[in-house]
Amino acid sequence: MKEACGAGFGKGKKMERVRELFEDSRKIVIKIGSNILSDENGNVNGNVMRNLVEQFCRFMKEGKRIIIVSSGAGVCGMAAINKWRRKDDINYKQALCAIGQVELMNAYKDLFGKHGIHVGQMLLSREDFEDHVRDLHIRNTLFTLVDEGVVPVVNENDSVSVEEINSVGDNDTLGALTAILWGADLFIILSDIDGVYDKNPKNDAGAELIEEVYDIDGLLMEIDARGKSHFGTGGILTKIEAARRVNEYGISMVLANGSKENILQELAEGRGKATVFFGK
Ligand code: ADP
Repeated sequence: MKEACGAGFGKGKKMERVRELFEDSRKIVIKIGSNILSDENGNVNGNVMRNLVEQFCRFMKEGKRIIIVSSGAGVCGMAAINKWRRKDDINYKQALCAIGQVELMNAYKDLFGKHGIHVGQMLLSREDFEDHVRDLHIRNTLFTLVDEGVVPVVNENDSVSVEEINSVGDNDTLGALTAILWGADLFIILSDIDGVYDKNPKNDAGAELIEEVYDIDGLLMEIDARGKSHFGTGGILTKIEAARRVNEYGISMVLANGSKENILQELAEGRGKATVFFGK
């Protein structure tokens, strides 16, 4: 494993820094990628979702507050109606998201409900962050939900967002904007890889994980970031750019593999693998 982009420290110290980061973070935004919410057949991966929600609830019991930014509406839509899988047309894609958003929220509602926790849905588009009044209302709603112990589940308003007009573009960026707006302590992106590698780990078995990043431009010169998945809209570059955004506000970002059981608890205990981008 690579030491770090910007510094070279011992393994024990590194894990201790990750443990401290989790311990010190009270307000956490967690973005969940569509890759981990669906299995190889494009169906919703209930076990992964259940385990994630259990981990979030454990954080909440420890006094942490969380906001979820969740992808997966398209995947959930396909699983629900089992057609239009191959339709490329934007109308069908947005229709699938409209159907899937209900399924997705239903799943979160049931899973959090088992722990006695309510969820609230917030569908946002780029304009919401660009307009001062809307921005203020989003912030107030988020604070109210969180203060009352409700978990906000944020997603791009896919059925009205069109790339060229008003779309944030991907949930990595939406998550970063949400973390900044809320004044989060930590932003976590859960994808299907352990973190940023020097090459795409899906294509190269020898790819090495980069565990700590202090210098994003230096990182970008070191790695090959090509390739993205079928369902994911972001790819690794949008995750790195999301880190740049939050780091500028002093918010650290963790990229980890959300399909690994109890990954957040492991990281919080100073175990497990991830890439941590330390905020300035
Ligand atoms: P998500 O749906 O979770 O947002 P994406 O598919 O958008 O995930 O992005 C993650 C993917 O980026 C990984 O599954 C991996 O195949 C790809 N990737 C390309 N280059 C790299 C790299 N250098 N390090 C890690 N992942 C990479």
